[in-house]
Amino acid sequence: MPTLAMPAPDPDILARDSEIIERLLAALPHDVVISDPQETRAYECDALTAYRCAPLAVVLPRTTAEVSTAMAICNEMGVPVIPRGAGTSLAGGALPTADSVVIGTMRLRDILEVDTANRFIRVQTGVTNLSVSAELEASGFFYAPDPSSQLACTIAGNIAMNSGGAHCLRYGVTTNNLMGIRMVMADGGIVDLGGPFLGGGGLDILGLLCGSEGQLAIVTEATLRILPKPEGARPMLIGFDSAESAGECVARIIRSGLLPVAIEYMDDVCLRAVDAFANAGYPKCAAVLIVEVEGSEEEILHQIGRIHQIAAELNPVEFRTSRNADESLAIWKGRKSAFGAMGRLGDYLCLDGTVPVSKLPYTLKRIGELSREYGLEVANVFHAGDGNMHPLILFNANEPGELERAEAFGADILRLCVDVGGCLTGEHGVGIEKRDLMTKQYTADDLAIQMEVKSVFDAHWQLNPTKVFPLEVSKPYRERAVSSS
Ligand SMILES: Cc1cc2nc3c(=O)[nH]c(=O)nc-3n(C[C@H](O)[C@H](O)[C@H](O)COP(=O)(O)OP(=O)(O)OC[C@H]3O[C@@H](n4cnc5c(N)ncnc54)[C@H](O)[C@@H]3O)c2cc1C
Repeated sequence: MPTLAMPAPDPDILARDSEIIERLLAALPHDVVISDPQETRAYECDALTAYRCAPLAVVLPRTTAEVSTAMAICNEMGVPVIPRGAGTSLAGGALPTADSVVIGTMRLRDILEVDTANRFIRVQTGVTNLSVSAELEASGFFYAPDPSSQLACTIAGNIAMNSGGAHCLRYGVTTNNLMGIRMVMADGGIVDLGGPFLGGGGLDILGLLCGSEGQLAIVTEATLRILPKPEGARPMLIGFDSAESAGECVARIIRSGLLPVAIEYMDDVCLRAVDAFANAGYPKCAAVLIVEVEGSEEEILHQIGRIHQIAAELNPVEFRTSRNADESLAIWKGRKSAFGAMGRLGDYLCLDGTVPVSKLPYTLKRIGELSREYGLEVANVFHAGDGNMHPLILFNANEPGELERAEAFGADILRLCVDVGGCLTGEHGVGIEKRDLMTKQYTADDLAIQMEVKSVFDAHWQLNPTKVFPLEVSKPYRERAVSSS
């Protein structure tokens, strides 16, 4: 039995299910509304698959106007709404409740404008992250945030979770590359924020929306900053015989003032899995770093020289620099397939905590100790340059009690991240997964401010109401919202 509680569905809403579906069908094209339980089951979970619950109905609009219509009906009928992109959230952000309507934006797939002169692309938010890059491929520009799930995840989900990726060390995460959005408010109103210009006066509401996990509005269009592709890029692979030395190498590279595009970390458990899966040719050692630098040939050689010097002080077992495009692909191949490779080992929980880079060696050591205490193996593969850790806890879902033990282990790792001065999430968001740990990171006053802000956007607490805020803490807000509706 997974341990995270979800509140019981509202019997009043369940009793009105046919009426709600009829209202949606009357206002929207019939193929936009899904209510057959065989079909709604496809939306019963996201990538946190231990938690499942089919919604009352699913709405898959093709336009912002249709999103607005669906949202207005749910608002009027007092029905919770779960915004959904591709459903790749690892935090349970898109998990429905039985009394909710899922509004999915994955059919909003148009590229609306590409403007290289002013360095932006405007898209509907159902486009996948990878198709934005594909659209720009021939233009000499690229969109920087590159989650490992980029083949499937949508720009909507990236905005809602403020997603990152391997190349975000240098270019920042989604919030640093988002210029504007069109969004549907809880009452169905349509609002534009920002646009193809820098900044803008007044409060940074765009910044507030990015990372708001479907709590404030449904985002249907986005203007994204695009960047000219660098002259060249080259990865290095550095192997170490201890996790601490690899962690220390990351800390020293960052302290030196160098800013590689990516510093990725894989430990021995991950290396074994990746080698068997992708035949990546990685060295057999305790940990490997992939460090990528970019710029002109002169800049690349200078950075490689300095990184070589830093690594040499820590006695690496291997230092390999790519000599051509094939070798670069080979170095990245294993890292890119790491999650798939880990999946072949069995069930895993993928965590996402962030620590100050200087605390990586201690945190890795402590995770190893916790792994022995809990009797569960853990693999570490993560964006080390910005301290964004992804411990993967391996367990057997068919073994009674193992999922619960893995969840308890995961919660201890996230508490550890906060204790060393980091935070609960770097890029996957809070969802339900970290919801009950929010009191570890925030005081009651901090959480109250965040919930008051939600109430301003979503007075009736209809948007994703059981996520992000611990249920006990948000209860008065949810009850107040119901009594005022
Ligand atoms: C194998 C794997 C690798 C991953 N690697 C990374 C990684 O490297 N970096 C990273 O950051 N994440 C990663 N993720 C997590 C996930 O892919 C990201 O969180 C992604 O941004 C989710 O996008 P989605 O379209 O699937 O959104 P969903 O999972 O559908 O939804 C995610 C959240 O966004 C909200 N939402 C969805 N659509 C809207 C909308 N239109 N308006 C408002 N809110 C909305 C949902 O309510 C939910 O809270 C990975 C996941 C997997 C399975």
